[in-house]
Amino acid sequence: MPYLLFALSGLLGLVLGSFLNVVIYRLPRRESIVRPASHCPDCGTDIRWYDNIPVASWLMLRGRCRACGVRISVRYPVVETLTGIAFVLAMWRFGPSWPLLVAWAFIAAMMVIAFIDYDHMIIPNQIVLPGAVLGLLASVALHPQRWWVYVAGSLGAATFMFLLAMLWPGSMGPGDIKMALFMGAVLGAHVLVALFIAFLFGSIAGVYMMLVQGRSRKAKIPFGPYLAIGAVLAVFLGEMILTTYRNLYS
Ligand SMILES: [Zn+2]
Repeated sequence: MPYLLFALSGLLGLVLGSFLNVVIYRLPRRESIVRPASHCPDCGTDIRWYDNIPVASWLMLRGRCRACGVRISVRYPVVETLTGIAFVLAMWRFGPSWPLLVAWAFIAAMMVIAFIDYDHMIIPNQIVLPGAVLGLLASVALHPQRWWVYVAGSLGAATFMFLLAMLWPGSMGPGDIKMALFMGAVLGAHVLVALFIAFLFGSIAGVYMMLVQGRSRKAKIPFGPYLAIGAVLAVFLGEMILTTYRNLYS
């Protein structure tokens, strides 16, 4: 029975990931996310349902459009696979429950923000602002005894990012602050773990880009993808890491 739940979670993640690809492409271009149907970005030919099966179709067509042969980015199956894996891990962490639905929605939002920020250096308000409000409502409904942890996590994380933006101009943008508001609203105390992982990975990547790729110290690097990686890992590991940390110091 649990294997069936994991399989269904993975399938749901793959299918939703396919939709997230559409959102990632169209939202920053102000295009409708429901119309028109998926089409080749190069020749405009509509993509038939059998060429639109997550991961499988991309592999079958060897990453090319069936009509014109133009390369279709490996990004598409990667987003689908990552969403599938994250959905399975969320099922493993929460089991069939309300917190699972919140985690799935949160993962989907983080996936979209990460790739839009990577592509355009924009963290879309249309996702982080409703996300922060709905996330906080869901957290308060699910944890009525500890609602203040989520309010504090949300305001605390946003204030922290705001202070960084003040102290080091150009380090954090308004989008990062609003994204932290969203993350704290859903993660509560685990937002600490998310921020720690984000800054750890962000600094490793920053040093790599400077030393290996020879980028300038002033080069603009979107931080949203690191926040998203930290946030998703905190969904799975936040409880374990915070408990281990508390045990070490008690
Ligand atoms: Zn084409």
